[in-house]
Amino acid sequence: MVNVVKDIYFDHAASTFVFPQVLDAMIPYFEEAYGNPSSVHRLGRQGRRAIDEAREQISSTLGAEPNQIVFTSSGTEADNMALMGIALANRNKGNHIITSIIEHHAVLHTCEYLKRLGFEVTYLPVDQYGMVDLKDVKQVMKESTILISVMYGNNEVGTLQPIKEIAEFAKEKGVAMHTDAIQAYGSIPIDISEIPVDSLSISSHKINGPKGVGALFLSGKIKFTPLLHGGQQEKKRRAGTENVPGIVGFAKAAEFSRQTMEERRTKYIAIREEMTKIWKEEGIEFMLNGHPTHFLPHILNVSFPEIDTEVMLMSLDMEGIYCSSGSACASGSLEASHVVSAMYEDKRRLKSAIRFSFGLNNTVEDGRTVAKKVVQIIERLR
Ligand SMILES: *Cc1c(COP(=O)(O)O)cnc(C)c1O
Repeated sequence: MVNVVKDIYFDHAASTFVFPQVLDAMIPYFEEAYGNPSSVHRLGRQGRRAIDEAREQISSTLGAEPNQIVFTSSGTEADNMALMGIALANRNKGNHIITSIIEHHAVLHTCEYLKRLGFEVTYLPVDQYGMVDLKDVKQVMKESTILISVMYGNNEVGTLQPIKEIAEFAKEKGVAMHTDAIQAYGSIPIDISEIPVDSLSISSHKINGPKGVGALFLSGKIKFTPLLHGGQQEKKRRAGTENVPGIVGFAKAAEFSRQTMEERRTKYIAIREEMTKIWKEEGIEFMLNGHPTHFLPHILNVSFPEIDTEVMLMSLDMEGIYCSSGSACASGSLEASHVVSAMYEDKRRLKSAIRFSFGLNNTVEDGRTVAKKVVQIIERLR
């Protein structure tokens, strides 16, 4: 458990706590309105109404229509559903998929699977800031390309991708475009009416909602085949009895994160500035991994070349400070992150990258405490 008195949680890109009002909104759907939302009796209808309302709330945060939102069991499922669903349904047009080398494993490993099914996948490189170049997309595009999948904002280094430009190009070429917006959603404004993507994935537990619920926006303009087969739920796009409390909580969290977005952005920028200021003042050697201006405000990825990632993480953990080496799924392994490795060659930099990711309850004071602890740890180990 997080010791609320002194522990500092700086790993919000991995997951977040459930906001109390979110939990309150969910409870009646466990205890009272627990009917199957497909049932026609009153308890069923209550669940159905809650899902309809949640769908409206989520779609409005994206500038989408309610019928374009499909609820899933996670962000991972939404990514799988988009890639598999679009690739399989458009196979008659071609077998080529373009994605980027810095995607989350929910996309990368699905692409690996699609390769085993006979699809061809091209991985776009990134520059030293972790950004994909539209020129590269244009260069690798071919007659057989049916799908482009590039993430909205990277979960390890925070770099924002030129999604609007890539989506406009994809549209012009008649190629489907998916974006994994799981890390960006709730952190920066996303307006689908301005970006012509065909699908976009989001997840609840990254925005102070419960785990195990996500959603996929589907434009409805492309051919798509479902991943799960069974009942008629989600207009036959995703079978399975809906996670009513989870969906209700997700929608509440989405509204809440929209309301607090500006305030959080200002705070996260102040935390970043405070931390880097302290390291500069203390003469600590560090490098910022990510883009200097196009970034997600809650993610700060830094290398301290004097000290390996694992040692730093363990030392911070002992102080009650929780952060990570990048993707939660990849950590635990000693390999350097595939994202940071795609950006730099300097081995010291790769071996010492740390991701601090901020959330709702963090303060500038927390940033100061963590930055000073980092200084102490480095000085102690010198
Ligand atoms: C967390 C995350 C996922 C996976 O979402 P889950 O809901 O945890 O399955 C996928 N992509 C990105 C960019 C993420 O940050």
